[in-house]
Amino acid sequence: MSTPPVRRPLVTIDLDALRHNLGVVRNHAEGAKVFAVVKADAYGHGMVACAQALRGLADGFVVSTMGEADALRKSGITQRIMVLQGFMNVSEARMAARLMLEPVVHQAWQVELIEKTSLGLPLSVWLKIDTGMHRVGVPPEQARELHARLLGSGRLRHAPGLMTHFARADEADSTVTEQQLAMFHAVTEGLAGERSVANSAGLLGGAAGGSLGDIVRPGIALYGSNPADYGSAAEFGLKPVMRLESCLVALQSQRKGDAVGYGGRFVCPEDMPMAVASVGYADGYPRVTASGTPVAVNGQIARLAGRVSMDLITLDMRGVQAKPGDTVELWGETIAVDEVARAAGTLGYELLCAAGRACRRVYRPALDNES
Ligand SMILES: *Cc1c(COP(=O)(O)O)cnc(C)c1O
Repeated sequence: MSTPPVRRPLVTIDLDALRHNLGVVRNHAEGAKVFAVVKADAYGHGMVACAQALRGLADGFVVSTMGEADALRKSGITQRIMVLQGFMNVSEARMAARLMLEPVVHQAWQVELIEKTSLGLPLSVWLKIDTGMHRVGVPPEQARELHARLLGSGRLRHAPGLMTHFARADEADSTVTEQQLAMFHAVTEGLAGERSVANSAGLLGGAAGGSLGDIVRPGIALYGSNPADYGSAAEFGLKPVMRLESCLVALQSQRKGDAVGYGGRFVCPEDMPMAVASVGYADGYPRVTASGTPVAVNGQIARLAGRVSMDLITLDMRGVQAKPGDTVELWGETIAVDEVARAAGTLGYELLCAAGRACRRVYRPALDNES
């Protein structure tokens, strides 16, 4: 059965690849529980659909906000849910207790709020320690005191979990991760509670050196993009989950010396075939993507030529056979999202989030509510 060509960009989410990637992550997890990070609408892949697809495989989920956690609970997710940004006030803390969420405590005032306020039900929390990321987390020198105060508050379900986040685990030869881990271990030694340290890069890159703790928190690896600044997703055994495709709307021949697109950034070196595809920066394909970036047309490789427009790109079609209406893959199985990201000076994370937000999304296998 042939599907008609799409008129505008389409994002297809391969849920089997997502599940495969969770298996890859688990093989590296050294027996730690795997909490799937589904913040930012599962990096553009659809939070509820991805959580549902992983519900029998993941031990828990990680989101940023209470609102995201609430949406997961409403969709029927009963697993543990870590909430990275934690609660901002009493009503959110009560909501966390009621929905059995696990907010991250990262400021001393949140500890004070727990001490002073009846939450109705016991709460589970994670105490996040800043071991070098310098973004969110309590200073190491306050960690033991805050941990003791949380334990002493009498309002917790069990001892607070202890966590930290790596700043440079994606780098092949950074010693910073080891330093962060050493500090984490020193600060938390002897304290009660679960431990969680590793993101995708820490986990797959082996940066944590055999001490992944009780729970790992992979995000990007689940979506099949390379968490590290070396190697490739395929080398880690990860499969692409998102495919971004569109179609050719025009083919034409240009003359030697013709300057193509805004700013005339690509000048034809000879008389040559060009094509126009219906995708652009409005769809999450970055405007700054460099000429020469591969685009798959009927399994052949065409090259981006000239500036990306709002909803069109121009392609160097030398050696490529195609006709109007043919499908083009911007990234997916043939073109790694990380290759496009590199050509745009960014990371797979940003491309996936942007295209997932901008484009119509379908799932394979189809969701129950999709026809
Ligand atoms: C986003 C995030 C993760 C997941 O990171 P990836 O690089 O996508 O694996 C883990 N922990 C924290 C605290 C995060 O903010």
